[in-house]
Amino acid sequence: MGCDVSETGAGTPFILSLGSNMGDRLAHLERGIRHLARAVSIEAVSTVVESPVWAPSPPQPDFLNLVLRGRTDRDARGLLELAQSAEHSAGRVRSVRRGPRTLDVDIIFFGSEVIDSPELTVPHPRWSERPFVFHLVPEVAGEMVEPGTGERLRDLLPTGPIPPEIVPVAGSSTSWRITTGTRARD
Ligand code: ADP
Ligand code: MG
Repeated sequence: MGCDVSETGAGTPFILSLGSNMGDRLAHLERGIRHLARAVSIEAVSTVVESPVWAPSPPQPDFLNLVLRGRTDRDARGLLELAQSAEHSAGRVRSVRRGPRTLDVDIIFFGSEVIDSPELTVPHPRWSERPFVFHLVPEVAGEMVEPGTGERLRDLLPTGPIPPEIVPVAGSSTSWRITTGTRARD
């Protein structure tokens, strides 16, 4: 399982997904978390899972993915800028649309905000269709609620067995060490 620390900080809670299917995938995820943690508070990190790419995308290697919950004083656009700078620092080059990437960082939820602008859609429009997101969000959601319904995400979503096409990466998430002003836990 991932790690979870206090939910008592100030700022807006958010959930991000991180994915990598190029190069040293785990190292890209790890560096991505460190990059984010310099600017926002990370409160919970899920298990790391390996899964095939979701349609519609060109054929490509399997992804390693995780989701995390954090908290920030930034607004959603400021968080998107940070997410994109984390992708950039992992050497991400946008060549093929939906092609392989060293690091993809998507905003899944930002507080209970609903945003629909050309550069940002929140909640992420495909969050419930991506099996890894759907199954990992409950691990980190804490008290966060679904915008609109107000239901707690951890109650809303299945916490049953992870589907067979999603494979937890043994031991990986126990190595995250989050030190961002909140209490760290292995
Ligand atoms: P995808 O994640 O869909 O495979 P990209 O990572 O290449 O694609 O992102 C393309 C664009 O999606 C970004 O430039 C960003 O402006 C936009 N976008 C819209 N909503 C979101 C979101 N919730 N999180 C991250 N990016 C988003
Ligand atoms: Mg993306």
